[in-house]
Amino acid sequence: MSTAQTQFADLDRAELKAEEARTLLKRIADEFGPATLASSLSVEDMLLTELIAQAAPEIEVFSLDTGRLHDETYATMERMQQHYVRERGITYKVYFPQQDAVEAYVRDNGVNAFYQSVPLRKACCEIRKVEPLNRALIGKKAWITGMRAQQSTTRTELKVQDVDTDRGIAKFNPLAEWSNAEVWAYVRAHDVPYNELHDRFFPSIGCAPCTRAIAAGEDIRAGRWWWEDPLAKECGLHVSQAVSMIRR
Ligand code: SF4
Repeated sequence: MSTAQTQFADLDRAELKAEEARTLLKRIADEFGPATLASSLSVEDMLLTELIAQAAPEIEVFSLDTGRLHDETYATMERMQQHYVRERGITYKVYFPQQDAVEAYVRDNGVNAFYQSVPLRKACCEIRKVEPLNRALIGKKAWITGMRAQQSTTRTELKVQDVDTDRGIAKFNPLAEWSNAEVWAYVRAHDVPYNELHDRFFPSIGCAPCTRAIAAGEDIRAGRWWWEDPLAKECGLHVSQAVSMIRR
């Protein structure tokens, strides 16, 4: 098959999967509202935001500003607010960590203490990500993520519909069965805004000190916390699934 034929096949599959995802998002809004999409401003989350704008705009979108994001991610946040909030009417919120907790962590451990040990890294993620996430999910019956099964060794058994047992609410991963090529085929065909870091070999978007570009052939999430064991590489946002994989 030629490159052009492969790209057309990717887009065909992506359009079919997008229709399924729109149907799912409508069902989430109807049966699990209020629901919200947790957006890291990655290409997957921008694609889902586009589908929410098309099919279920009552679903909110939020991001966690850890205070350590790349400039390109803040630029994407601005584009999100311009394109999806001001022009398309999506509700978008940004949550910040508790100031006292950040100040205490930096005072006691240092500003880049996450490089010293897994516990200190997880403590930083707890303060800058997990606690704000828990606040963002208060009152929600479901949350939605842009995770895909192909993204890493900790996500191979990802389900489209799941239960967040820690929080007692539903969790949906509408892109669980999408390939990377299908995501990009849809995003390019529909001019979905995306984070420029993806053009610089950052397939996964995270905090600047903890995310690097990957080399050809590396796992998609190899650039996240690259100094740690691959099976420890979740930030606590998706803890149940990560823990179950580690226990296997
Ligand atoms: S990814 Fe790094 S900087 Fe961001 S919250 Fe976790 S440890 Fe802290």
